Amino acid sequence: MIVQPKVRGFICTTAHPVGCEAAVKQQIDYVKSKGRLNGAKKVLVIGSSMGYGLASRISAAFGCGASTLGVMFDKEGGGNKTGTAGWYNTKAFEKFAAAEGLYAKSVNGDAYSDECKKEIIDIIKSDLGKVDMVVYSLAAPRRTVGETVYKSVLKTTGAPYTNKTIDLRNNTISEITIEPATDEEIEATVKVMGGEDWEDWINALKAADAIEDGAITLAYSYIGPKLTHPMYYEGSIGRAKAHLLATSKKITETSVKAYVSVNKALVTQSSSAIPIVPLYISILYKVMKAHGNHEGCIEQMYRLFSKLFNNELNLDGDGRIRMDDWEMLPEIQSEVTKAWESLSADNFKELTDIDGYWSDFYAMFGFGIDGVDYEADVEV
Ligand code: NAD
Repeated sequence: MIVQPKVRGFICTTAHPVGCEAAVKQQIDYVKSKGRLNGAKKVLVIGSSMGYGLASRISAAFGCGASTLGVMFDKEGGGNKTGTAGWYNTKAFEKFAAAEGLYAKSVNGDAYSDECKKEIIDIIKSDLGKVDMVVYSLAAPRRTVGETVYKSVLKTTGAPYTNKTIDLRNNTISEITIEPATDEEIEATVKVMGGEDWEDWINALKAADAIEDGAITLAYSYIGPKLTHPMYYEGSIGRAKAHLLATSKKITETSVKAYVSVNKALVTQSSSAIPIVPLYISILYKVMKAHGNHEGCIEQMYRLFSKLFNNELNLDGDGRIRMDDWEMLPEIQSEVTKAWESLSADNFKELTDIDGYWSDFYAMFGFGIDGVDYEADVEV
């Protein structure tokens, strides 16, 4: 069938199989052009099909030559419905890995569940023995524990917060007031996006003797500038990220070294859902591109892996890796703040890289990729 994008607000309900494959290939080619890293050899990536997790998996496989196991939550295509982008990305990744003789297996299931953990551990035991690195890159709206479904919310805390935002349905600037999350909502967000499940994974791997002593584990976080703090760093998601950081310290007291890496704000499926942040991202893109230091997921993750394996981590006072170093440079942030303050419906096109925002958005679903024939009939 001919596959076209169907965008509703901040999601696209279709994905292009050939476009996704080409986009994965671009990421692989980037990593190969940067050269080999002497790093991990058997890597588990939880949340491996999109965004930072996919870029981590590509960096591990094609940067370090690692065998990789991935966990994702995706849908296969069928009939006249396309699969999810993560499904096609994973198929493409496995194909390119196999072509280079790299071991790659993926489990499509709920990473929060005991069944999924067991399935992965069984594969590790039979195929790899033990893993030496675990990347935890889940971004999920909910988590089921027994009979209870916890739902994460993207809200502020304390008092309501009003600022500019972009309505992605029609690219218009407006003001939005974010209501504070209730204690119960904060608790649920911490359950979903905090460190509990990360620790459960590491404990399950240890109990099964499926992780090396001295293995490394990474999870991802975000801080951002003051203007996004009420929404992110001091919002319900920020509480979850604080829990993630506390968990890294807890894990590190054992035989596994855990790091939280603070990554750059980028267009991904999950960041598109956060109010205010997409508008900030579209200004940030404009400023960083002008300064020549803009990066996407793959540039961020390859740079992270190279810092990690070349012992150049340079941790901050709270023990975090700062991959947001370029985003947070004073010269970048002062220009972003200036643009933010003067932003209105009239100068919005001038002050933001909204076209770059949308082109990254479509690319996530395999659309607008160079060299792909979008008029051609494709198997979904
Ligand atoms: P994403 O939406 O692009 O990818 C999320 C991945 O998680 C996908 O592979 C998806 O299949 C998987 N997933 C979701 N629910 C799952 C489940 N129940 N079981 C198994 N897999 C599941 O997200 P992303 O933006 O790459 O975010 C990854 C991490 O990076 C998150 O912790 C996020 O907070 C963090 N981060 C993101 C940004 C950003 O700007 N996007 C910045 C800094 C940090």
